[in-house]
Amino acid sequence: MIETKDIKAYGTQAADALLDQLNISRRKPTAHDVEIEIRYCGVCHSDLHTARNEWHGTVYPCVPGHEIVGTVVSVGDHVHKFKVGDTVGVGCMVDSCRECQYCQEGLEQYCEPGMTGTYGSPDKYLGTQTYGGYSESVVVNENYVLSIPENLDLAATAPLLCAGITTYSPLRHWNVGPGKKVGIVGIGGLGHMGIKIAKAMGAHVVAFTTSESKFAEAQRLGADEVVLSKDADQMAAYRGKLHFILDAVSAEHDINAYLSLLRVDGSLALVGAPEQPLPVAAFSVIMGRKSFAGSMIGGIAETQEMLDFCGKHNIVADIEMIDIGQINEAYERLLKGDIKYRFVIDLASLKNNN
Ligand SMILES: [Zn+2]
Ligand SMILES: [Zn+2]
Repeated sequence: MIETKDIKAYGTQAADALLDQLNISRRKPTAHDVEIEIRYCGVCHSDLHTARNEWHGTVYPCVPGHEIVGTVVSVGDHVHKFKVGDTVGVGCMVDSCRECQYCQEGLEQYCEPGMTGTYGSPDKYLGTQTYGGYSESVVVNENYVLSIPENLDLAATAPLLCAGITTYSPLRHWNVGPGKKVGIVGIGGLGHMGIKIAKAMGAHVVAFTTSESKFAEAQRLGADEVVLSKDADQMAAYRGKLHFILDAVSAEHDINAYLSLLRVDGSLALVGAPEQPLPVAAFSVIMGRKSFAGSMIGGIAETQEMLDFCGKHNIVADIEMIDIGQINEAYERLLKGDIKYRFVIDLASLKNNN
């Protein structure tokens, strides 16, 4: 029998309901668990999709949040990696089967039976479901907890746990670095991290945007060149020039136009998730032996590697801090793209809420 404790959280009871304060149960730390007092939690677009059941299958109540940073407040008897007082993070997963080929290779995000998502997954301990970071605290097996570099601003580090690793992992997998020309499509929560990380990896970064108003922003973030994607002449100038493209756009867009910018053997990896299928013309990939691929977050070891990389290169997200009570308004602004580039919730505001 696992003991539990009730804590304050913020979540929703139905797809069309606003988020509001509620109580949830967390298990008390078992032998290998770390209990974390949450200080900040980033607001990912997935939070909104899940809260509103847009990807279907949401079980209510739903407590979103998978860009968690905080402080260790207690540890189980057999925890070796962390101690009380450590600054730690939790990303999109809190567990996986730990046995399958992918778990053993550090690709827990692709665990065969399926990883345990930080929210909205079956909870192996309590038989309920997992609740995310819009809450006072979380209890996680030490193997799924990350160390946060001391030098980084903590609130602005939170988005690294999803937006950071989502862009870092494909950039690493496709060997982005010096001598490579890399396209980043879409300058939002994911894309702005993609630009910063690709630049720090030593690549020549070309940012693509539909809005001329984002040119100066893209350059400030580190882009060497910026292209207005709806201008056919500007696009044509890059035909066959890019080694890799990271596509972070979640809206409908012409994927063939981007595939034409790749060099022979180039790859385009999708990290945005448009709702409708994207038509890919056969000759867009046949000509030039190109690959159209996708990528989902990263494994635990790779997420730690990303955090250490960001610590070394002083990379954090550009954020706007909000109180928990502003979350519904933040979702509306997120839908309008009215955020540079990530909302982060200060959980002290939940603690002080009654
Ligand atoms: Zn996310
Ligand atoms: Zn597994």
